[in-house]
Amino acid sequence: MALKLEPGARLVVATHNPGKARELAAILDDRFDLVSAGELGLAEPEETETTFAGNALLKARAAADRSGLVALADDSGLSVAALDGAPGVYSARWAGPDKDFAEAIRKVEERVEAAGGEDLSAWFTCALALAWPHGPAVVVEGRVDGTLAFPARGTRGFGYDPIFQPEGEALTFGEMDPAAKDAMSHRARAFAKLKATLL
Ligand code: IMP
Repeated sequence: MALKLEPGARLVVATHNPGKARELAAILDDRFDLVSAGELGLAEPEETETTFAGNALLKARAAADRSGLVALADDSGLSVAALDGAPGVYSARWAGPDKDFAEAIRKVEERVEAAGGEDLSAWFTCALALAWPHGPAVVVEGRVDGTLAFPARGTRGFGYDPIFQPEGEALTFGEMDPAAKDAMSHRARAFAKLKATLL
């Protein structure tokens, strides 16, 4: 793989969420000069793909081509085996415009029960895409497997964390120390792959 990024390179992070841009900077050990798509006033493309990798690539490609900078984008979500992988790329959308994750969690529980309630296997996926302006791109994926926990447990983390218990752990992501989650998360695994590929 000939694609490399020099330390200090200017990178646009394809997110309008300042918290996510900071999180990405921390994961990258502040190795790059990061600017967010929001700060550059770049429009957010619609996430029209049906895979995490497809959406991450679409967002990175749009930001790179519009800004002229190398762009990093992510797409992530929860997949439930009994629901054929749903909510998947629609994980954020299941929470509605108010980002009501109590409602999204209820929806998951109802549908899993309707499917028989026996298979509780689930996994989080994070796809990361890096695109060069009008040039090549790389996509990697990280995944963490586990089981759904009903009722939800814990108030830490975000999104579906309170109903996800990673394999081999007694706590849900919602109960776990954030550093413990970060050490095993789908996001950490995707970043480890990206670093191995690029740095
Ligand atoms: P996006 O990648 O920002 O579109 O986020 C996708 C959605 O997946 C988030 O809104 C969360 O609902 C869910 N999600 C992704 N990663 C996690 C996680 O680590 N914990 C809980 N929920 C997550």
